[in-house]
Amino acid sequence: KDLYMIDRWGRGYFDVSPDGNITVAPLQERGSKISIADVVRAAREEGLRAPLLIRFQDLLHHRVRTLNEAFNRAIAEVKYRGLYRGVFPIKVNQLKEVVEEILEAGKAYHYGLEVGSKPELFAGLSVHTDNESLIVCNGYKDENFIRTAMLGRKLGKKVILVAEKLSEVRTIARVAKEMNVEPLVGLRVRLMTEGAGKWAASGGEHAKFGLSTAEILAACNILSEAGMSSAFKLLHFHIGSQVPDILIVKRAVREATRHYAKLRKMGHKIEYMDVGGGLAIDYDGSRSTFHSSMNYSVEEYARDIVHNIADICDDEKVPHPNIVSESGRAIVAHHSVLVVQAFGSIEKTPSTPIDIQAEEHKLIQALLETRDNLTAANLAESWHDILQVKEESQKMFELGLLNLDVKARVETLYWENAEKMALLAGSLDQQEAPEDVVQLRTQLADQYICNFSVFQSLLDHWALGSLFPVVPIHRLNERPGSDSTLVDITCDSEGKVSKFIDLSDVRDTLPLHVLQGEEPYYLGIFLTGAYQDIMGDIHNLFGRVNEVHVFLDSDEDCGYYIEEMIAGNQIREVLGLTQYDTPGLIQRVKAQVDGAIKQDLMKPTEGMRLLADYERGLKDQTYLSF
Ligand code: PLP
Repeated sequence: KDLYMIDRWGRGYFDVSPDGNITVAPLQERGSKISIADVVRAAREEGLRAPLLIRFQDLLHHRVRTLNEAFNRAIAEVKYRGLYRGVFPIKVNQLKEVVEEILEAGKAYHYGLEVGSKPELFAGLSVHTDNESLIVCNGYKDENFIRTAMLGRKLGKKVILVAEKLSEVRTIARVAKEMNVEPLVGLRVRLMTEGAGKWAASGGEHAKFGLSTAEILAACNILSEAGMSSAFKLLHFHIGSQVPDILIVKRAVREATRHYAKLRKMGHKIEYMDVGGGLAIDYDGSRSTFHSSMNYSVEEYARDIVHNIADICDDEKVPHPNIVSESGRAIVAHHSVLVVQAFGSIEKTPSTPIDIQAEEHKLIQALLETRDNLTAANLAESWHDILQVKEESQKMFELGLLNLDVKARVETLYWENAEKMALLAGSLDQQEAPEDVVQLRTQLADQYICNFSVFQSLLDHWALGSLFPVVPIHRLNERPGSDSTLVDITCDSEGKVSKFIDLSDVRDTLPLHVLQGEEPYYLGIFLTGAYQDIMGDIHNLFGRVNEVHVFLDSDEDCGYYIEEMIAGNQIREVLGLTQYDTPGLIQRVKAQVDGAIKQDLMKPTEGMRLLADYERGLKDQTYLSF
């Protein structure tokens, strides 16, 4: 448990059972724990194998409650005179079941939705039923976007259109008049405060979104000229996702609240202050300002927002606005775990030593001599010697002066030497060990081949270097036997995981257990519920993975049930997405089989059987089946 720092990033949701399995307690306080290995087994019995995405739906409830109660407590503590009206940004996880679960959990708090595109608005309008809660519309908008939002207004919903551009304010005013609706308008202010971490560019004066101070005043004029001054209801800002440092949050809140206060004093009766997203997740458990972490808690976040808004409003003597936040990552990241199967490993170091022959090639003799005389004192020199031998052997091979068997023996002995040196370096004082040799540990790491696609399921790791905790879901009562990296099954050298969480840093390898023959070995990739599912692409046509939705069983203390099973993509489905229709595929292969039969390359019965196999294979899932 300590090796993988589960208590640090798991936040009470994840633990290890005495028999070495990872467990999940979706509702921390109830204590019921679900073994992930049990869920994998149950799904497998129903035909759904890894890669398997497991959603713990009750965990969503817990997160929604945690956030809303943190704000409500902070409001009570400072006797704040406004309400908290949070919204969930659909873009962070659009899956209908996830959104519905969140809305259900948020009913008591009038928790609403944030949408950033037309499709999200269409989805949002249909699942949103609580007219006390908000629908905040961010992102660039065309006339149809605005008309659809007005439909929401006609249905009695508090749909707030947050303008990103002045031209949008004009269109909102015109369409509202045409449709005879009272619009609710928000303006996104472009703050000077810049975020930090990987999404810092969402804030600051060069951000893609938001209105400058001059544009905000111009927007107010447009509304008042249209006789709609009172429509300006919300002031919004967003300084980027995953803000690791609370000081930045405080600074942004204070800057935005000053804007609110000055606008209020000018007579604009703004009712809501929307602080956007940014509430981070402590992916590495370091509680630091590292990009994969955060140096604050949800409670501190809520307290600081409420306190700072109150402070500036009191200073400026303006009413406290209702507070909106758009936390996505903090609501959904914990609830899903991706389970992948490691089904083989690529080992750098030879498992069997070479036989030494009487008359060895001089390169081999040199490597043997280095190996047999290696000591801490000559470590650096020995390392340089074997590098030279490796280089020489490559040159000789290119000139045609080295046979393959000698080349193979040189390589084997080189890696054997390297492993010995890395071990020796590991036992030395850090000051003494040559850096090159210390780095060898990473080069020597085994690569575990895992049945999944980084591009489908872990896009932010590939694209942005985001870190996710990776832990075997079983065998945690056994000592791991290898330091490894992971490679996926795409034909792309970028399809790998070779950066892992460490305290405030990154480590290059992960301790894993030695694979035992055919015995499946499963790894859980945790905290993947935010953004990863939807941003994944179909590189190599792998497509969606199998998915199960797990609920705690209210009758039994330790029980759970799988409410929904969603099979991953079939081969014919992903081919359909790239214009290969199933009948067309079969027809073309049949024509080729007929041709082969005519040329006597196969018997008709064999041809028909192979064609039937091809047809059946199109319904197989895209990932490998073990
Ligand atoms: N609101 C807006 C406008 C966003 O652009 C984003 C994402 O970057 C969010 C909310 C959600 O942010 P987070 O997932 O950090 O809570």
